[in-house]
Amino acid sequence: MEETLKTRAERAYELLEKLSFTRVSCSEEETRAAEMLKAEAEKNGVPASIETFEASCGIVKEARLKVLEPYEKEYEVTGYIRSDSTPPDGLELDFVYAENGLPQNLVGCEGKAILVNGRVTYRMYERLQKAKPAAIIGFSGGVTDRNEETDLDIRKLRETYAGAFGSNVLLNLRASDALELVARGAKKVRVTVKAESFDGVSRNVLCEIPGTEFPDEIVSFGAHYDSVYFSKGAYDNMSGSVIIMEMLRYFKANPPRRTVRFHWYGSEEQGLLGSKAWTKAHEDELSKHVLMINVDVAAPVLGSEQVITMGTEAMTSYVDGMMKELGKAAEVKTDIYSSDSVPFADKGVPAINFCRFGAHGAAFIHERRDDLAYGYMNAEALGKTLDIVMEFSKRVINAPVFPIERKISDEIKDKVDKYLFRKK
Ligand SMILES: [Zn+2]
Repeated sequence: MEETLKTRAERAYELLEKLSFTRVSCSEEETRAAEMLKAEAEKNGVPASIETFEASCGIVKEARLKVLEPYEKEYEVTGYIRSDSTPPDGLELDFVYAENGLPQNLVGCEGKAILVNGRVTYRMYERLQKAKPAAIIGFSGGVTDRNEETDLDIRKLRETYAGAFGSNVLLNLRASDALELVARGAKKVRVTVKAESFDGVSRNVLCEIPGTEFPDEIVSFGAHYDSVYFSKGAYDNMSGSVIIMEMLRYFKANPPRRTVRFHWYGSEEQGLLGSKAWTKAHEDELSKHVLMINVDVAAPVLGSEQVITMGTEAMTSYVDGMMKELGKAAEVKTDIYSSDSVPFADKGVPAINFCRFGAHGAAFIHERRDDLAYGYMNAEALGKTLDIVMEFSKRVINAPVFPIERKISDEIKDKVDKYLFRKK
């Protein structure tokens, strides 16, 4: 007998509960989660393997920021992973607030400590490095955050940034402290960072169910299973990981006409490292891929279904029509989605992203509240995305003729080039 959606959703939610723990790139917990996903696939009758890849990694042993003039105060900071170290006693530096780091903000900043708004973006970092500051300070959170209710973010200087523009001393501060520093007119600071950089090992979990009629046409399901610091990553993205596990169960019980792959990617949060590693190591297999189906974020009770296609407008119309025919409420659009679908689209494989976005203020990512204990996710809501992914997948994977053209529009190609920093 066909299982009901409720049964599938409740089972997926149980697995979500088991895997809701912090799973940062290259950590022991990330490895543990990979092994649990592999064991679950095998329990469901599909042999799975783990492929490792190197990911830049490191630890920060000490990070300090002290204002010396016109007042004296030490602020809590984190050093970026892969930050340069200062001399052991730190650097005494003039302090400048450089807002969004426009060239006008950066005149005369050489050798100084500069504070910039929020997160250091790629293009901002390019401008900052040209100005040759001695230290870069960003901030996270909001100015009304209570310290005991929030965590001071730990960030990383990504390889893409350091490789293109070199490294520097980088720190992260709370937004409320950044506000105080600027409002009180900080002029001179002491910055101390002691950091060690090394290569870590991250993992992708992989398995396959061969197609009965068109084994050489591959549809690849993907979901990242890593999280960021302080976050259990239930919403982002163990929710998507357990949804594709249900797809594996379905296609094991109902052999697909086309070959289906299941990939759980590590280190997505560090710049899509798992899917980039996979597409690089398996370039020769990509020509057989007709579609990549990515699921990244699901399960908030208050939310809405979003389908983001990275192919052509014709693909979007097809999917939108299917949702209407099925009576599934999902907004379908063509756009880039910042997830593991990008490396596939970059290699010419059309990709589709299924997600359930939380309504405003009804879901949290990349922080401690991405945790089932906060009560905004449940099995029924998880089932909504699961249902849509399942109905869509059954149709396309078993279609007599594959209904989606293997083509990426110029608009999406352009967005991918910009996303991957090949174009401004
Ligand atoms: Zn995600």
